[in-house]
Formats: sequence, C-alpha cells, structure tokens
Amino acid sequence: MPELPEVETVRRSLAPAMEGRVITQAQVNRPDLRWPLPERMAERLTGRRVERLRRRSKYILADLDSGESLLIHLGMSGRMLVSGDMLGGFHHDHPAPQKHDHVVLDMEGGARVTFNDARRFGAMDLVRTDREAAHWLLAGLGPEPFGNEFNEDYLVARLKGRATPIKAALLDQHVVAGLGNIYVSEALFRAGIDPRRQAGRIAAQRIAALVPVIREVLSEAIAAGGSSLRDHRQASGELGYFQHAFRVYDREGAPCVTCGTPLKRIVQSGRSTFFCPACQK
Ligand SMILES: [Zn+2]
Repeated sequence: MPELPEVETVRRSLAPAMEGRVITQAQVNRPDLRWPLPERMAERLTGRRVERLRRRSKYILADLDSGESLLIHLGMSGRMLVSGDMLGGFHHDHPAPQKHDHVVLDMEGGARVTFNDARRFGAMDLVRTDREAAHWLLAGLGPEPFGNEFNEDYLVARLKGRATPIKAALLDQHVVAGLGNIYVSEALFRAGIDPRRQAGRIAAQRIAALVPVIREVLSEAIAAGGSSLRDHRQASGELGYFQHAFRVYDREGAPCVTCGTPLKRIVQSGRSTFFCPACQK
C-alpha cells in the first residue's frame, strides 16, 4: 500500500501534465473500482480545467473549475501513468491500451493520464470542493503531518492517557493523517522510542520530539521519490518504496545502523513492526 511519500511523489509527477490544463477527453471504462464510480463521471470531467492538484493524507485531489474535485486513491495496486508530450509538442506517442486501464484522461497539451489498477482496490470519486471535508473517505482524518495543526502541543495532548502502544496510536488516522506502517517504524527508531510502549506513559518531551522526526522521515522519502522519478518518464505507484532510505523497516536480523544490535521484528495488531531492541526504549 503506498504511503504518504509515495502518493506525494505521484502527485508531483502528475502536476506538470494536469495542473492548469483542460481535460479534453475523459474515458471511464467501467462502472466501479473498489466502490462504484460517480455517475456521469466522464461527462463531469470532460472540458474541465484542473486548477490545482493537491494531496490530503493518501488521497490526490484534482480541483476542477466546475467546483468539484476528482478524488483519487491508488489502493494497493493502482498506478497513474503519464504518456505523451506534456509540453505540447507534436510528438504524441501513447502506449497501446492495457487491460485494467480503467480511467483515461487526455489533457490539453497532449499528455494522457491513465489510471490502471489490476486488483481494483483503488477508488475515484467526484466531490464538491467546498464540502470535501465531509466526504466519507476524508471526514475524521487528523491533521496533515506537514500542517501547522500537527505540532508538539497537539500530539502531546492527543496521546495523553492513551493506553494503546505508541505504534498503534501513530497509525490511527484520527491522530495524524497519512502515516503508515513503514514510516511509523522509521520515526520511532529515530526518536528512540520502543514501539510497544503505551502512548500515554511516554514523557511529553519524547512525544513532542516525534513531530520533527515524523516530518524528517517523510521529507527524506519524498526527496528520494523525486530522485527516483527523474529516471522514469512515467508517474507510477509502481516505482515502489524508497528502500535505501529505510533504517529498520524490513531489516529483521540486520545490524542496527546506530549500535550494531540485530534488529527485531514483532507483530502488532497483525502488522510487522521493526525496531532496535537496544536503541529504542
Ligand atoms: Zn540500535
């Protein structure tokens, strides 16, 4: 499942093809992805200008000049492919349509944006931009990790008294939006916090220290995504995770980069957690 940095990387790579440009033709090849697609979707997209391409948590939002936003969720296997010349030259080569190309957007300027999703865990919807906060997928999401609302005082207050392990508390999308299994493991390692500790029993100072650490691991991953994208013409969730940046995730048994102790893997709420039993208290 792509996490926030992967989604942000996809957003950034789609922006030159989509932002400020009119969708000259939208093609919707099936009635549903994970959930039914909105009615008259192709009609509501065709001819609309994309004013802005934003990200909220793990969702991409394309604000249209109609007052609606196209909400895009990549799910497990969704990919956004950009083909053609996005600078509007004469050279418009698009690959042959593939199976699982569910939504195809031809953009003013010649680029084509294709949503391909073999497993159909992805989602798209059209939502009134001014009412997006009430959309069922977005309502209840906590603050963005890079937003002003997510700060030291907020996190300390939010986790006060919570008996759940700190790892589960940070995965809770009501606490902070967009954090997933990988980057929570990485952030707890850098903060030196044992993922099994009860959130409410960790000193406020140590909880506060998590805020800049969370931003740091996400920023580094976004930067790594940007550099891996330079080598690829296509915007794709398939670019994968930026593994070279991981210090603990998926490194069970490997030596801790700080102290050399073999890293451990445990299962918390059905998901793997990786940590250093010596550095993380
Ligand atoms: Zn260590």
